[in-house]
Amino acid sequence: MNYYSYPSLSSTYLRFDQQLAFPVVTVCTKNPMDFNSVSLYFDQSFVGHSEIPVVEYTDFYFYETAYMCGCACRRFNVNGTFLTSQYGISSGLFLETTSTELQIAIHDPQEDPNMARDGRTVRNGTETFIEIHRREVSIRYLSTFNFWMDTIHCYGSINDKTEAVLLEGAHNLLDPPVIAIGTHKDKFQDEEQCRKRLESYTDKIFKDSKLHLRSIHLISNTEDVEDAFEKLRNDIFATAKSTANWNREYPVKFIQMEKAINSELTIGKQIISFERLKELGEKIPLPITDNKELHLFLRYQHEIGNVIFFEDIPSYIILDPQWLANAFKCIVTAQQFQLELPHLQWDNFKKTGKMDPKLLEEIFKKQSADMRIHKEHILEVIEKFDIIIYPLLLTESGNVQREHSFFYVPCMLQTLKIKDIDVLFNVPNASKSTCLCFVFSFLPPYLISNLIVSCLREYPLAVVKGEIGLFKDCCVFNIGRTGCAKFVLAKSSHMIQLQVWQWDEVDTEVNQAVLKVVEREINRIVNTRYKLKTVSFEKKWKCETTSFSFDTGFLEFDQVNDGENYYCEEHATVHKYKDYWSGEKSKASRRLSSDQQNYVRMSMIVLEVLSGVLYDRLYIDTKTGEILDRDKLDITEMCKKYCALKINFPSKGFRKIEKVDEISTNEDTIGDDIQRIRVIRNEMQHSSVFALDDTRYQTLITIVHDMLTRFDQRNNPAGESYVKRLDEIRKMELETRSFEEIKERMKAGNLSDIFFMFEVQE
Ligand SMILES: [Zn+2]
Repeated sequence: MNYYSYPSLSSTYLRFDQQLAFPVVTVCTKNPMDFNSVSLYFDQSFVGHSEIPVVEYTDFYFYETAYMCGCACRRFNVNGTFLTSQYGISSGLFLETTSTELQIAIHDPQEDPNMARDGRTVRNGTETFIEIHRREVSIRYLSTFNFWMDTIHCYGSINDKTEAVLLEGAHNLLDPPVIAIGTHKDKFQDEEQCRKRLESYTDKIFKDSKLHLRSIHLISNTEDVEDAFEKLRNDIFATAKSTANWNREYPVKFIQMEKAINSELTIGKQIISFERLKELGEKIPLPITDNKELHLFLRYQHEIGNVIFFEDIPSYIILDPQWLANAFKCIVTAQQFQLELPHLQWDNFKKTGKMDPKLLEEIFKKQSADMRIHKEHILEVIEKFDIIIYPLLLTESGNVQREHSFFYVPCMLQTLKIKDIDVLFNVPNASKSTCLCFVFSFLPPYLISNLIVSCLREYPLAVVKGEIGLFKDCCVFNIGRTGCAKFVLAKSSHMIQLQVWQWDEVDTEVNQAVLKVVEREINRIVNTRYKLKTVSFEKKWKCETTSFSFDTGFLEFDQVNDGENYYCEEHATVHKYKDYWSGEKSKASRRLSSDQQNYVRMSMIVLEVLSGVLYDRLYIDTKTGEILDRDKLDITEMCKKYCALKINFPSKGFRKIEKVDEISTNEDTIGDDIQRIRVIRNEMQHSSVFALDDTRYQTLITIVHDMLTRFDQRNNPAGESYVKRLDEIRKMELETRSFEEIKERMKAGNLSDIFFMFEVQE
């Protein structure tokens, strides 16, 4: 029974386009000479109901279709970019003409109408309405195609590598396989044109979604011979055979059970109780009596999309997914009942997606009996699909309460607010955190809705001036009772953004807690809900005053340290970075700030190079042959010993020097340089902040470099030259560990230096 082993895809998606593409309108005057005398105008009253801008006469693009009707035609909405959300006599394209006769064709942007065949003739002195109906979801084919490919990709996985597939080098492909079929080949002039059209679709889909495509077939709806279908059949068979699910075992009693369910369907049962299923299980030739086994069967059937069954709401099994889809529709497209139920309050629902119980009750009254009976179960299932949500709300007494009297239908949300959401809530810039971005290579179409729903389960919605912060592309939640801390989730292109607003003093723990919840939920949605094995994201950030629609110029979390300046691409200016997401801080603090790095490098130069210089010099000048134990000598000890030699005094004698810059460049004897070493060491040792800014670091490096060049001549060190050792330290990768170590080493021996000063001055 290979049939049962076909890989299958089960997904329940609803897509309701509130706006439809306005058709293309081609106007032909039948007489090229006549054209300029034709007046056409666009009715202003249409504007405001739709996104179609006011069009001028010149917006009717001149369009040559001489080969068809022998004249010049004009065309409105050439690319099909205009959308409309209204219909009826008052919402349309109005044409007024002085021509004796017009041919008008209404068509799809992809089509070239044959004016003689498709055109409607409008005669002078008459008023004619041309009305077209597209009651079903009507979106342009390309976006439909994109949508399905993206949806399939959402549920996709890396191709299960069977031997045969590997041999063909198809290891990059993704499952499930998709075979694209171009139907209506007969509508094209030739096969090549048809192929090109299909390719223009496949070219435009997201590159990862494309990895599902295996082959392309072109089929004529009128004249194809059996051959073409035979080829397609073979291709499907070959593709199916190469998948890992091919020939998988399936218990015979499950097949019998499936047949039993199908016979229920044929007598019109679209939803049955679990008790009824048990009865069916007992009646089949190889009975299933164990509840666990029944659950296993249902889980499998649910997985492959035959039934809808959730183990935590087990009383009913929906046998016909279409029946559920219809039930979904009556909620999601509830507005269609407005004409039948005009006495109810629709405004709130249309604006905010808020469904109150009275409205719901009335809508269900209009449905079939089995839908009315199973209303509660339907609502539970719909909630499972995150289509409706009972929100948490902040009550007037400051408590958080789950609302049961009404719910939201997030996909109903129409208002876009991303551009001025912060203005709506009157958020001062100083209260905004940096904007944390979850940047996806592929952002599944419904992830933001699911994420908003997830957050609604944990955080109450924020409200401002009676308006709830719940919109199509962003959502604002309260953190805590006072409302002084909120966060916003915003979706734009391929990213989901998180920003925390804190009117009181910034508490990074608040940010961290929110981030933890949001990230956990994104991971949960991506990994468990959608099983998106092919989707991943990266966490980046943008500045506090970013516009949520700005989708480039992200910074990495370890790129800038707390308090450091960075260049913001969006505002073309420099901001100071503040770490708002201390969850990320531990990662950032593993890197040293540039001032800290300077400090570590200069300290290493002191401890490893300069003390070596001093040791070598001491060794050369001692002449006693006394072998000094280098590890036991720090710079102070060595200076003391050198001083005791009573040779090479500084050229201006011993004096109290605070900064190495006080020694002028012409003081360049061995004594002067030893003085320099001591003073540089002191500067590093006495630093209380353990940091050195870039300017100071460069000054010291120049002094040290010149000095080491002299010592390379004087000491002629064994092994690498001092200058080379200096350069190595300057280029070295530094870790936090070396910082802590250096701090400890520099702190040691403070006192001995003071004693040295005393001794020398005496
Ligand atoms: Zn900026």
